[in-house]
Amino acid sequence: MDDLVFFYPEGHEKHYEVGHPERPERVESIRTALEAKEYWDRYPHLEQLPISDEVMHPIHTPDYLLALEEVCKKGIHFDADTYTTPESWELAHNSAGGAISVARSVWKGEAKRGFSLNRPPGHHATPNRAMGFCLLNNVALAAQYLINVGANRIAIIDLDLHHGNGTQDIFYSREDVFYLSTHQYPHYPGSGWLNETGEGPGQMKTANIPLPPFSGDNAFFIVMNEIILPLMDRIKPEMILVSYGFDPHFADPLGNLQLTGDGYGRLIESLVSWADENCNGRISLFLEGGYDLGAAKECTLAVVAALLGEKSSQTAASIAENGEPTTFYSILEQVKLIWELQ
Ligand SMILES: [Zn+2]
Repeated sequence: MDDLVFFYPEGHEKHYEVGHPERPERVESIRTALEAKEYWDRYPHLEQLPISDEVMHPIHTPDYLLALEEVCKKGIHFDADTYTTPESWELAHNSAGGAISVARSVWKGEAKRGFSLNRPPGHHATPNRAMGFCLLNNVALAAQYLINVGANRIAIIDLDLHHGNGTQDIFYSREDVFYLSTHQYPHYPGSGWLNETGEGPGQMKTANIPLPPFSGDNAFFIVMNEIILPLMDRIKPEMILVSYGFDPHFADPLGNLQLTGDGYGRLIESLVSWADENCNGRISLFLEGGYDLGAAKECTLAVVAALLGEKSSQTAASIAENGEPTTFYSILEQVKLIWELQ
């Protein structure tokens, strides 16, 4: 069994728009950092898998796929901030097929952990529209693939700065995929308040932890220990898929969550230990957002070290000892009330 597998989105640089923050350099700076640490050549790189209709159609509607293909052919915007190029249709399938390949490998026990460099990203893509730089919902398609091959309970933990409204919408009334998100609130895309907990068979299968600006490492550790891990104990997922955005990092130009790279590594360490104890160590990361190239490097080295069970050698960039905002504790108490975690 390989300790880790990667997916790299070959050709992704053809999906770009001059001056747009979701740019090819995001993935390339991650690759360079992994090469410099000699992680890149040490572990296998998987090819993408084709996406069958049985996997695609529960996630995205046929009408949306037709519309997306047309928009990509013309290379125009889907909305104000979501661009396409004539190559984007194929590259979006490539990205999602890579996510599926990584999830499959870890599910089958061919690899212990997976790290999928997805570009274009996915978590804002809903069943019927592209938005927030996202075309196809990579992590949702990976989860659907696992359900189709026999998984009963999958958890998606979304640590991106932004709420993954697309992933939430897709699974909102389903009981087989539990979705949990930490995100800055209020912020784009506006959804993800704590009372959004699922509906019908999906009731209490969606958990939102909206965080105030300047929450910082310690707030994230409290949320991990007092909310996320207890909920994992309750849900008992058979595999954890992490929507990994590096935009909670303090250097990110789009947000203010003030997480450090070292802090990110510790969050992944916690999820890895939970997975080791409860689901045969099955956990994989799928790239979402993040727009500062230094943060890309720092967070990624920390999370890959965590996936491999190594202690991160980085010294945490120190940020002011400002403590958590008081509004954080009010949110924390309300989330605990909703989920009966007192
Ligand atoms: Zn984001």
